[in-house]
Amino acid sequence: MTYDVIIIGAGITGAMTAYKLARCKLRTLVLEKGSDIASGATRANSAIVHAGYDAVPGTLKGKLGVDGSRQVGEIARRLNVPYKNCGSFVCAFDEKDEEHIKMLYDRGVANGVPDMRIIRGEKLFEMEPNLSRACTAALYAPSAGIVCPWTLATAVSEVASLNGADFVFNFAVSGVSENADGSLTVTDGKTGYSARYVVNAAGVGADKIVEGDIWPEGEDKPVRINPRRGEYVLLDSEMGGIARHTLFVCPSEKGKGILVSPTAHGNIIVGPNANEVSDPDDTSVTPEGIAEISAGARKIMPDINLRTAITQFAGVRPTPVCRSKDYCIVRSKKFPSRLLHAAGIESPGLASSPAVADYVVGILGEMGLELIPDPDFRDERPPVRRFKEMSDEEKRLAIASDPAWGRIICRCETITEGEIIDAIRRPLGARDLDGVKRRVRAGMGRCQGGFCSPRVTAILARELGADMYDITKKGPGSEILMRPSK
Ligand SMILES: Cc1cc2nc3c(=O)[nH]c(=O)nc-3n(C[C@H](O)[C@H](O)[C@H](O)COP(=O)(O)OP(=O)(O)OC[C@H]3O[C@@H](n4cnc5c(N)ncnc54)[C@H](O)[C@@H]3O)c2cc1C
Repeated sequence: MTYDVIIIGAGITGAMTAYKLARCKLRTLVLEKGSDIASGATRANSAIVHAGYDAVPGTLKGKLGVDGSRQVGEIARRLNVPYKNCGSFVCAFDEKDEEHIKMLYDRGVANGVPDMRIIRGEKLFEMEPNLSRACTAALYAPSAGIVCPWTLATAVSEVASLNGADFVFNFAVSGVSENADGSLTVTDGKTGYSARYVVNAAGVGADKIVEGDIWPEGEDKPVRINPRRGEYVLLDSEMGGIARHTLFVCPSEKGKGILVSPTAHGNIIVGPNANEVSDPDDTSVTPEGIAEISAGARKIMPDINLRTAITQFAGVRPTPVCRSKDYCIVRSKKFPSRLLHAAGIESPGLASSPAVADYVVGILGEMGLELIPDPDFRDERPPVRRFKEMSDEEKRLAIASDPAWGRIICRCETITEGEIIDAIRRPLGARDLDGVKRRVRAGMGRCQGGFCSPRVTAILARELGADMYDITKKGPGSEILMRPSK
């Protein structure tokens, strides 16, 4: 069978593109190297829905940021994705910083960011009581927010899947070739799938899909994608109230700088730094990195108690090496009428993702893809029930309907067996421990899965009809239990 569209990569760019294409009468296939949705940069980032003042006006980042940010809020509300419109501060500590936030304000105005203002004096500390008294002014953007990036990506993928899109995991694309009828075959070296159009949304792996092929206008050579790691510390939810807004320092050449922010789940996130790494899968956390982000966080909030950290992690940015430093959403050099690259989607790629996807779909239309609306499209997914958020009466009814709703598996996050079973049985449901963790947060709390992992492993085995020894953390090669030697 020839698909209408194959999307390579189920990060937020690929997932959101599948979601937008699902509105049309099209057969879409998403091919993902990892064992689940959001296996790359979408898995580990700051999760800020940026307001859109950072990007240089006129660039794609500048054009897509505000609309993307607005759409993320709408989609989150519609599909029950954890999201909070908390607003953000970019903090100034000296005159140079103040000039910088003024420049960001002007950019924001040009990009269409609503309601920004520069705040000074006591007002700053009324709004953000734990902010460093060395902060002299801040650019306040009330439209910024925080979102759960995995839930956003899985929610839109569920909708795409329910509307007919196919997803294949553990499929690492190694090449693309042209068929006699002009369609393309996408292969992992063993099998192949064909489509009339292909979107390369492979994140940090995008430049390897067709070597030397991402070549935007105005660049003198093809774009390479460099992995740039950002490390984080996550603080316990007990610290949840210390920051009301996302608090940034002024950005640097390498990125938006270290931030202190609430998360959509009530923790506090601190980080990231920005360091080039040679291995795109290098998500290690280093003592130097922790020291760097701790110092950055103390600049914003001198009394922050970093001893309340419950975990550390890192994400890898797909940094495009090019003059423009912009998203590289360009037609292929080799297959210009069939292959579209959506590469180099660095921050604010999460916040911009719905607008990025609209842009991608628009170009596919220009390339000849028929975008005929599907009257049967349903923009909904099965309800998500969170035991912790239920009223006593709702809890009673849930337990009466199925006692699994009364068995708490993850004590830190109060996650029941009922929720875990739902996470596994949903469309594109969890197939491994990380899949459960990202969908329902079992293992995300203070003990980081120390208590619940064996029980989640047993539930996965039972639900999937699999041997416990075959249950993995995140796909083949990450089996949790060792088979006893004979
Ligand atoms: C440290 C850090 C902080 C960030 N903070 C923010 C923020 O606060 N707000 C914001 O808006 N953005 C932020 N971003 C940026 C945001 O995370 C990215 O822009 C976004 O996740 C990119 O999504 P993507 O789908 O393009 O790439 P990815 O999420 O990396 O997805 C690409 C997918 O392709 C798959 N893949 C790769 N190679 C192949 C292959 N050969 N075959 C098949 N599949 C393949 C990968 O496994 C992956 O799942 C941050 C990023 C990082 C790393």
